[in-house]
Amino acid sequence: MTPEFNLIQQYFTRPTPTADLGIGDDAALIQISTGHQLAVSVDMSVVGTHFFADCAPYYIGWKSLAVNVSDLAAMGATPKWATLAIALSSTDPAWLSKFSRGFFACADAFNIALIGGDTTRGPLNISVQIMGEVPIGQALTRHGAQVGDDVWVSGHLGSAALGLAHLQQKIILDEAVLPQCLQALHAPQPRVALGLALRGIAHSCIDVSDGLLADLGHILKASNLGAQLQLEHMPCLDAFKAQLQAPHIQPAVLAGGDDYELCFTAPVKQRDAIDKLSSQLSLPLTCIGKVTPAGALNVVYHQQALNLTRMGFDHFA
Ligand code: ADP
Ligand code: MG
Repeated sequence: MTPEFNLIQQYFTRPTPTADLGIGDDAALIQISTGHQLAVSVDMSVVGTHFFADCAPYYIGWKSLAVNVSDLAAMGATPKWATLAIALSSTDPAWLSKFSRGFFACADAFNIALIGGDTTRGPLNISVQIMGEVPIGQALTRHGAQVGDDVWVSGHLGSAALGLAHLQQKIILDEAVLPQCLQALHAPQPRVALGLALRGIAHSCIDVSDGLLADLGHILKASNLGAQLQLEHMPCLDAFKAQLQAPHIQPAVLAGGDDYELCFTAPVKQRDAIDKLSSQLSLPLTCIGKVTPAGALNVVYHQQALNLTRMGFDHFA
């Protein structure tokens, strides 16, 4: 076997019982369940842009798949298959083995089969395509928000951005919160179970990858509506609650990227169902505001309007 095929065999080939044909041919073959649509998404992770060159390879592996899983969670789809296109500057066995372990840890956590890919030499760059299933017509989209909907968000906001700011030496996080923030940054937990449960409950949904305001902004633009949010209701780690207005905390919570929580809108009559879901999933679900008719996104803090300078992360800003 050539070194390239050896590498694919050793690090990326695992049994794929949910595919008719997995790695090894010119294309994989899959069948989707009757009455379902195929949900497809792709996300690239680039060294220096999405992760530091010295980031633990296990986490690069986990996160490069997790960010894709998160997109299917936001659609209310069940992730099933992935392909991996990877450019490697060298074939360091220790690096590859840790990367592969992180990637498959995430794959196993969500029952995803790696069914193909491409391996080339080049500056480290990882492109994962994910495929999943959703019953026809039941996907959660960005365009379904309605005036009067509650705006909800899962989990905590800002932890990943604060972890990143700490690594960039822009702030110094306390030992008491640092592990949680680094965990949020390096090993995000895609909210698949929540996305599935929100089918038939939420009117619209998105995952928070670029920052809450930017991503909720996509829902509002697609739905041609506005929203008013309350800063005091934003869910963040307890340690940051009293400092929501601090100059380093507020932008992390409102506009920090990499949280991979779900932001969704739902009619008021679903409040009890959503609260029940929160306890079932042991996942905080917090109502942070309301959808409004006007096409603007406002945030107030104890009734006082905030002047928002930063909405989120933009690669080309
Ligand atoms: P081809 O030249 O026909 O495109 P390749 O030589 O690129 O095929 O790949 C051989 C097989 O290995 C294919 O089935 C492909 O999908 C799979 N493959 C290549 N790289 C990866 C990878 N990084 N992860 C998973 N499967 C891979
Ligand atoms: Mg071929």
